Parts: sequence; structure tokens; C-alpha cells
Amino acid sequence: MRRTPRDALVAGDIGRWLRQWRETTVPIPRREFLRRAGQAAVTVGAASQLGWLQGCGRSTSTGSALRALADGMDGRVVAPGDPRYGQASQLFDPRFDDARPLAVAECLSSSDVERAVRWATAHGIRPIPRSGGHSYAGYSTGDGLVIDVTGLNRVSIDRNRKTATIGAGSRLIDVYSALSAHGVAIPAGSCPTVGVAGLTLGGGVGLSSRKLGLTSDQLMAAELVTASGQTVTCDARTRPELFWACRGGGGGNFGVATSFTFRLYPVKRVAIYQTQWSWEHAAAVFDAWQRWAPTAPDELFSICKFNNGGPRAKSPQPVVTSFGQYLGPEHELATALGPLLASAPPTSHQISTMSFLDAQRFWAGCEGSVPQCHLPNQVRGGTLDRWAYKAKSDYVAAALPPAAIDTMIRWVEAWPGGADAMGGGIQMDSYGGAINRVAPNATAFVHRDSLFSCQYLAFWLPSQVASAEGPSLQWIDSFYAAMRPYVSGFAYQNYIDPDLGDWLHAYYGSNLTGLTDVKRAYDPGDVFRFAQSIPV
Ligand SMILES: Cc1cc2nc3c(=O)[nH]c(=O)nc-3n(C[C@H](O)[C@H](O)[C@H](O)COP(=O)(O)OP(=O)(O)OC[C@H]3O[C@@H](n4cnc5c(N)ncnc54)[C@H](O)[C@@H]3O)c2cc1C
Repeated sequence: MRRTPRDALVAGDIGRWLRQWRETTVPIPRREFLRRAGQAAVTVGAASQLGWLQGCGRSTSTGSALRALADGMDGRVVAPGDPRYGQASQLFDPRFDDARPLAVAECLSSSDVERAVRWATAHGIRPIPRSGGHSYAGYSTGDGLVIDVTGLNRVSIDRNRKTATIGAGSRLIDVYSALSAHGVAIPAGSCPTVGVAGLTLGGGVGLSSRKLGLTSDQLMAAELVTASGQTVTCDARTRPELFWACRGGGGGNFGVATSFTFRLYPVKRVAIYQTQWSWEHAAAVFDAWQRWAPTAPDELFSICKFNNGGPRAKSPQPVVTSFGQYLGPEHELATALGPLLASAPPTSHQISTMSFLDAQRFWAGCEGSVPQCHLPNQVRGGTLDRWAYKAKSDYVAAALPPAAIDTMIRWVEAWPGGADAMGGGIQMDSYGGAINRVAPNATAFVHRDSLFSCQYLAFWLPSQVASAEGPSLQWIDSFYAAMRPYVSGFAYQNYIDPDLGDWLHAYYGSNLTGLTDVKRAYDPGDVFRFAQSIPV
């Protein structure tokens, strides 16, 4: 039976919560788009071809140009008028369903990607890379040419070298599934349908990360099609500066990634826990959590969450929960949890052991088969739903004082809820361990000295965006503003936030200069640009 999102939340299904993270877009206004496209066209010497885009109408010359693109591709080009256009244009978040790309190039090979990039630049069109389509800000759509790499989804394992080469369009559940058949894994995120490209390029944090590092920390090589339309590879020896940028420099900035080679780790069974306390214990539990989770054994990745489920939730009050994964036996996890459990008596506490793949399915909120862990429009038999949501991101470098904890509690209580809203709250992911043992400048992912990350979250039914969006956005902005005195000013680039003020500093800090150098070297014409791209 297909469970509704509401069922999942009422049942306290944390996996469903975890996959309900997304963001708002800042579509480039058409005039600005044309201005920028014109600049790029001048760069590539094809300004004259821009004319056929103006005025929104898609003329015969547009159609024939797109046909010429399609003719040389292994994959397809889906343009307006094609019955598949609506579906091919969709991202995970229905808030971006109004985006109207010029067309979607569904690539099946690196040469398709090369062709699409060359075609776009030659026509002064913005190429928009897309993998899993989970950009919080809708940055993998827009009115340019979407270069969809989901057809590049092969996972091949080299047992001798203990590496896997993974197509850039692979979705995480398929990666976990293919690797677990060989008893190995990479550290990656919890959402089954997130694409490996967006995740890796922005860092990649998941429930194995305190032991195995970020997804990008295990990257050994990447293959990209750059702005010139050429495929290049990079690793520690070849184009090391591009390789550095691919590990946290953010998706969509330097070219279209077509494949990644990762170092593999053996995984067996894992222990997981879920604990809930009544709201009166929120301050005590969180304070214990923040002093314990970032220094707990590396095997443990722990999350603490304050959630207000609204009037239809089982509990009339918000709840505080903690859950996590331990890469080791259950008895070790039980011991490790001691300081957290001593903070207050829980109302429920569960601990269990399962295979690594089952645990990833569990966190994903799809305990059925692997095909079921997809959206129905992506894979036959998929049972997952799309969601509308808004999130904001913070990092915390020093334990939050009582005044900050009190602020969090007050704002979670103040979540506006309403009949159409699904839930609102704040989620803290523990850092430390292997994440923080990497120097901030060793890769482009700068956030190496945080105790934990915070994610402010509000989500609502996609069909009810109109009524739930306004109050939710207002609430999340005010909550975020109230926390300014207590946080580091940094934000996770994969929780990309179009409303963030000093976003270049927040995402990249002292690594920004290195990133702009790489941008100038590989994309001097700023072909790969969006509202929050690395500037040239
Ligand atoms: C429900 C949900 C759960 C999440 N859970 C986690 C989590 O557990 N851990 C975590 O770290 N993050 C998590 N995220 C955030 C996620 O890592 C980012 O949203 C990520 O950018 C999504 O990648 P994608 O390929 O699915 O998205 P897309 O929207 O396809 O791409 C994101 C960005 O990368 C660019 N891009 C896409 N493909 C390519 C490519 N082939 N080459 C170059 N650039 C490309 C796009 O242009 C866009 O700018 C979650 C997001 C959601 C919506």
C-alpha cells in the first residue's frame, strides 16, 4: 500500500522527514537571463543565434536547432510540445514546476553531454546540469538547456583497487544497492533519490560520515565536460586544482560531471537507534546531545531534532527525538548512548541491528524493494512522493548557550502549522570524527571545525503551496534571524539557500579564492552560471 506523507509523519517515520528537505528558487528573470545569455553568446561568437529565443516563442529555427542537437545524440531531446516535456522538466520539489526549460537533453553518454554543452554555448543558451534534481533552490532548472545525466547511471566495481566508478546520474539508493551486493559502500546521504553528482560536488554528509568522511572525501577521480565541450578527467595528479574544486565546490560551477570514482569501504551489519522524549525535556536532551554527539565514537552519526507536527500529529506538543547509525555492534552502540539517555527519561527508545542496505532504506523511509525507493515517474513501482518545503542552514562551532536553546524551543513552539502544513522544526547533524579531521583547505569543503549543522525545516502538501507557503516562509525566516547571535555564519552549500546574504562566504569561506581561480581556468566565459554560482 502506498503510504501518504501524512501517514509517515504521524507514524514518526524519520526517513520521510529526512527526505522532505528542499528550497525555493530564484529563477533568473527573463531579461537578466537574456542579458547573461547574450554575454555568453558574445564569448563564444554566436550572438546572432540568440534572436530566436526572444519573445518567448519557439520558432521553427529553434525546433530545427534542437532537432540538429537530437540527431547527433544517443539520448533524446525533450522539448515543449513533447508529451514527456512536463515530466522531463520536473525537479523533486513541486515548487519549481513552473520552470520552462528550453529543452531537456537526456544524455546517455559523455559524448551526448559534450554535444549538448557545445550546442548550448554555440547558441548562447545557458547549459544547466542536472542529476537527481534535488537542488533546494531549483538551480538544476531554468530557461536554458537542461543537461540531464540520469541516463549515466552505471556502477562498476574494481575489486582489486577497491574502487567504484559511478555514473554521475546515479541516484543514491541505486548506488547503495549496487555496492551492497559486494559488501561495500561509500558514505553518502539519506535521501534515496538524490543524485550522486549534486551530493558529491557539494560535499555529501550522511549517516556514515563521522567514520568514513564526506562523500567527496572518498572521491578519487572525476570526469567532467567543461565549458569548451571537452571531457576532462581530474584526480590528485591530473588537474589537481579541478579535483580539489570537485570536492565541495558546489554543483553546476565548473562543468557537467559524467562520472566519479570512489574509494570503497567494507560494510556489514549496522546498529541504529531512535529515541523520543516529551517536550518538557527538550533543553536537557539537546544540551546533553550537543556536548556528546560531536565527540562520540566515530562509528556513530547522531541527529537531534525538534519537530512540531502540527494539529494532526499524534502529540499535541512538539517532540524532541534523536536517532542515528553505528557502524558496529549493538552492544557498543548501547554503551555509546549512555550520556544521551542519562539526560532525561525517554518516552520511547529503540535500538536494532540490520544490514547496511536495509538501514539506508530505513533512513530513506522506503523499507520495500529498491525500485520502490524511487518516485513513480522515475522508476516503475516507485512509491515515494514529492514534497514542497523550505530549509535554511547553519553551522555551530561552540556549544549553544541556554539562551540559544531557549530560542530554538520558543520558535519550534511558534511554528504556524495550519491544516495544510506538514511539520516544522530544526534538525541538528553531528559533525566531528572523520569529517573534522580533514583540513579546511584540503578540499573545497571548508566546514571542518563545526560541532554540528542545523537545518531549519518547514514542509507542506504540494497541492497546498498557496495556503501553507506564506506562513511557513515567514516563520522560518524569523526563526533563522533569532539564531544569528549563536551560530558561525557558515551554511552548507548543498542546502543551498537563495535568500542567504553573504552566501559566497557562508558556503566557501577561505576556499573562495581557490574556487574562483578554478572557475577562471575552466569556465572563463561563465557559461555555467546561476544565481549562486562561483563568480569568474
Ligand atoms: C530530500 C532531500 C534529502 C537530502 N539529504 C541529504 C543528505 O542526507 N546529505 C546531504 O549532504 N545532502 C542532502 N540533501 C541535499 C543534496 O545533497 C543537494 O540538494 C544536492 O545538490 C542534490 O543533488 P542532485 O544531483 O539530486 O540535485 P540537482 O538538482 O540535479 O543538482 C544540484 C546542483 O548540482 C548541479 N549538478 C547536477 N548534476 C550535475 C553534474 N552532473 N555536473 C555538475 N553539476 C551538476 C545542478 O546544476 C545544481 O546546481 C538532500 C536534499 C533533499 C531534497
